[in-house]
Formats: sequence, C-alpha cells, structure tokens
Amino acid sequence: MSDACIINGHIIDPANNIDGVGNLSITDGKITEVGGKEAFSDLQNTDVYDAAGLIVAPGLIDMHVHLREPGFVHKETIATGTAAAAAGGFTSVACMANTSPVIDSPEKIEQIYDIAHKTAKTNVFPFGSITKDLGGEELTDMRGMRSAGAVGFSDDGVTVMNASLMRDALALSAELGFPIMVHCEEHKLNAGAVMNLGETSRKLGLIGSPNAAEDIIVARDIMLAEMTGGHLHVLHVSTAGAVELIRQAKKRGVHVTTEACPHHWILTDTEVEKQGTNAKMHPPLRTQTDIDAIIEGLCDGTIDAIATDHAPHTPSEKAQGMVDAPNGIIGLETCLPLVLTYLVQPGHLTLTEAITKMTAIPSNILGIDRGTLSVGAVGDVTVIDVDTKNQVDVTKSRSKSRNTPFTGWELKGWQTITLREGKKI
Ligand SMILES: [Zn+2]
Ligand SMILES: [Zn+2]
Repeated sequence: MSDACIINGHIIDPANNIDGVGNLSITDGKITEVGGKEAFSDLQNTDVYDAAGLIVAPGLIDMHVHLREPGFVHKETIATGTAAAAAGGFTSVACMANTSPVIDSPEKIEQIYDIAHKTAKTNVFPFGSITKDLGGEELTDMRGMRSAGAVGFSDDGVTVMNASLMRDALALSAELGFPIMVHCEEHKLNAGAVMNLGETSRKLGLIGSPNAAEDIIVARDIMLAEMTGGHLHVLHVSTAGAVELIRQAKKRGVHVTTEACPHHWILTDTEVEKQGTNAKMHPPLRTQTDIDAIIEGLCDGTIDAIATDHAPHTPSEKAQGMVDAPNGIIGLETCLPLVLTYLVQPGHLTLTEAITKMTAIPSNILGIDRGTLSVGAVGDVTVIDVDTKNQVDVTKSRSKSRNTPFTGWELKGWQTITLREGKKI
C-alpha cells in the first residue's frame, strides 16, 4: 500500500537523468516507483496528488541556514525555521553552529538532532564549529562531532583568521572526508564595515568592505586546501575575484566547492540606499560586475550550489540603523521563486540545472542520502508550479522574522506541495 502517489507530473531527477511525465509513488516513506505512466490499482489509504502541468523534483536542500536555536529563539526556532523551509519547498536544511551556546561538541550536535526530532518540519543536518566557541584559537573535537552526525564544520559569521588552524582543520577534512565551510572576510580589511566599499558607501558616509577582504581569504583557503587535500567549501561567494579564484583552483584539481545566495546575484549595493538594514549582510551586496561574474560562475559550474544563508533577525533588531543592526536576511520562502524568475526564465540555467544545484549537488557536498528520486531513496519530494505569479508577502512568512528586501516583488514560479518521507509538510 502506498503512502502517497503523485500522478501526471513532469518528473525531473537530475541524479538519475529522469526528465519526463510520469507517476511517482512512496511507500513507508521510501520511493517505490518513479516514471511509470500506468494507473495505480489500489489507491485506498493513499494520498493522491495530481501534478498535471507541474514539476516533480527531489525535495530541495538548503545547505546554509541559521535556525538560531539554542540561544536566539526570539529570532527563530528549529520549529519555525523549518516551517519556513517547508513553505519554500525545502525538505532538508543544514544549520550553522553560531548559536548560543555554539555547537562545538558532540553533545551539542546530539542536542540539535534531539530538538529537530521533536519539532522540525524538515530534515535538519547540523554543522559543528571549527573552533571552540567560534573563538578562532582552538580546534573543536571534529572527530567526535563527526561521529555524532555533524555534516561539516563552519565558524560561519566570522573568519578563522589563524591560517595554521585552518590548515589543521583542512588536514582533518582530508582524513575524514567532511567539508570545511568558510565565511571569507579578512577581519582587518573588513573592520567596522556595514556594506560594500564603493560609490554608495561613500555617498552614505558608511564604512565599506572591499572585495579584497573576501578574495584574500578565499585565496588563502584554496592554498591550504591544495596543500592538505582537504575539502574546502566557500560559503556565499559574493565577488568576481573569488569566483575566478575558485574557477582556477577547480581547474588545478583542488577540492573546492562553493555556493551563491539569491541576494548576491540579484541585488547591488545601491539597494542599501533604498532598503537600509534589510540590505545589510556579510558578505555585503556588491556591484553589477560581481553579479555578472556570479551568474557566469553558476552557468559554467564554478558555483556548485544555491543556498539561502537564511538569517532571521527581529524587526526591532533590524530597526537599529545601518551601523548597529545585525547582518543578514531571511531567504527560505523566496529562494525557489527567485531562482526560477532570475536564473531559469532569463535562460542562465535550465530548470534541470537549477534543480541540480538545489538537490543532488548540495546532497553530494554534505554527504547525505537525499537529493534524488531513486527507487529506495527517502520520499522527499517538492512539486513546483513554474507558471504561477505571486507577490512576496512577508506578513505570511512562517519564519519568526520579517527581514527581507524582496517584500512586494512579483515572482513567477513557486513550490506547491512538499512531501517529507511521503507526508505533506
Ligand atoms: Zn557567513
Ligand atoms: Zn550564514
């Protein structure tokens, strides 16, 4: 007996080169049939979804979110963050370690799994931190956290400025096979910066961060990955220079992967003038030259994955002005429509390429058993309507926070039904 059947949909499963109309069935949480066109005979006790005219894809994976629990539950919780993820078509998220306390021990990895097991709508895969308490001075027990289920390690939010610690972390990555996810901003060049350094920062009288702050750390970490054989993953790439450094490193065979966030390939730093703190994030919004380079990187495969860097903050925190407000924007509910509207419809990526960057590739980078509709795989599925137009209405967000620069934008292409292990979420 099936738990769920999705019939008549256009199935796209990049991992298996499936691209065609057919049916998909899920039994006991696992995919049991994919691609057949014959009617299912026994549909009793089965949820049947007619996906005629819709795309049926593997459940989307966001490999970079901040769920804020423990410690900052006024901004978000694992329950609300994953509800926003489900609403955006994501069935899996990987969450950053910069909570309070920092996720820097095996016990804390287990605690995230515990909370997620009780409250999460989606699968939650935690990262552990690279250094204790994000202090940048002492490596964590990465071996122990790996055994407890950490899918990778990151001090996201800050850069590990000590190159010898980064070398040691990447050497352990080479031994154990996990990715080291790096937030790249040289601290001294970035000191006091609240936006990109350029015409707009000068006009607004704000301290800006130069592209070089990112490029220098990307170059350093590529060299360390090359030296050690470790797996470097560059988070939220934002500069043309970093894209080119990663392109050249890949050509040399360095084990480097990267991701880009929608705001970094849609918005420029001029948005700060219009949107204030809802356009404040690190790394900052850059220039059209950087946007063009990121899109080129997405097209030629230099940029492997699309992620959101979902970073919730409350309205009162974001109301503190450009200097004092915290960095980041929410992104889980707008990511897919932004990808469809700004990458697929203009022809930068095919729909299959876009889905690959949100399913099979992040799954491979994290080493998780998701991101495909193979028979026997976990029944996580996202159904997408590529034709519907809707306005972003942040008042309806499932997140606890409202900090987005995309309010009121009309976007074409939205998720419709999301199933986790065959159950609608
Ligand atoms: Zn970051
Ligand atoms: Zn982040």
